[in-house]
Amino acid sequence: MDVIDRFFSYVSFDTQSDENSTSCPSTEKEMRLAEALVQELQSLGLSDARMDKHGCVYAHLHAAPGQEMIPALGFIAHMDTSPDAPGANVRPRRVLYRGGDLPLDEAGSILLDAQTLTPYAGQELIVTDGTTLLGADDKAGIAEIVSAAAYLLEHPEIPHGPICIAFTPDEEIGRGTEHFDLSAFGASAAYTVDGGTLGELEYENFNAANAHIHFTGFNIHPGEAKNKMRNAILLAQEFLSLMPPAETPAHTEGREGFFHVNRIEGNESAADLYFLIRDHDRTAFEARKEQLSRMASYLNGKYGSDTAVLHLRDIYYNMREKIEPEHMDLIHRAAAAMEAEGVTPRIVPIRGGTDGAQLSWKGLPCPNLCTGGVNFHSVREFIPVPALETMVRILVRIAAVPDSKEA
Ligand SMILES: [Zn+2]
Repeated sequence: MDVIDRFFSYVSFDTQSDENSTSCPSTEKEMRLAEALVQELQSLGLSDARMDKHGCVYAHLHAAPGQEMIPALGFIAHMDTSPDAPGANVRPRRVLYRGGDLPLDEAGSILLDAQTLTPYAGQELIVTDGTTLLGADDKAGIAEIVSAAAYLLEHPEIPHGPICIAFTPDEEIGRGTEHFDLSAFGASAAYTVDGGTLGELEYENFNAANAHIHFTGFNIHPGEAKNKMRNAILLAQEFLSLMPPAETPAHTEGREGFFHVNRIEGNESAADLYFLIRDHDRTAFEARKEQLSRMASYLNGKYGSDTAVLHLRDIYYNMREKIEPEHMDLIHRAAAAMEAEGVTPRIVPIRGGTDGAQLSWKGLPCPNLCTGGVNFHSVREFIPVPALETMVRILVRIAAVPDSKEA
């Protein structure tokens, strides 16, 4: 089996995770792929491959002879697909892209536009039929990792240290590392293989917090409300009017942070606002939380204490704080491997989080590598065949001992 066969096999499993589920993994069906992966890894020769009770797959590739002292390096990908697009009955198709818009469905109404596809002219692409996502996020990562492991097993002459492999469930619903067993994994550093187009290399992500503000109003019959009613809906609206207008996702890019209001509910008696707070800079992130707190205090000063009650919860932090001081070798190593395969590394700050961010803060430095996939979480998701093949070679190069002084 090559990386393409593997990819086609993995996307045939429906592994959509479910944020409304409280079980782990969130859906039973994620375990079907986990079981298949354990079997495949064992048949390749990774005899300790297993799935734990939370649906996470672990496997280890022994160091090449004489390389046992090298610190163990890990590769991680996730098995679930996003709830944002249908994930069952994926019908992947290989097409040679010659130019122009590429119709996905038979009616020709769902298109991959020429602008997106221009860089891939002359390449074979794996696309959907327009009704489901493809699942390159992150089954491309899994196929690349398994294929790189298979390659190293077939080429015992390539020197490499111990390689640790993990495939996690529920990354798409933010629970991929909840039960991640660092000691079972065993690596001292790792990469997630979960990024986008070829060349992406990431070690910066948002600091993230969620905010909930509860507004308590005072309701009374509108006919008798003069100087008495305090409408909670209007309190929430007043709070929103205090928000900086340009600091939203729609007005920011790069390393600019934002407030994102993503839910409002209520009536005259009580109302609730929900926000995402995101910023790459930790100081600015803390200042954003402080800003919401001052706005709540302002309303409380104006209308009485406990009018607005703010709840803040930190979700994850920027991994840069963990990588930059002592683990930039991981970035250099990945960049060198890409360059050796003719791929120009593009180091970009992620406007989101990754499993690697959580792991980096738990003590496992873990930048993110590209998979080569495009248009994640969408029925227009696709991956170029050469990107899949190139990533296998890049992973092999990252795994291989870069030079004798590291041995
Ligand atoms: Zn992903």
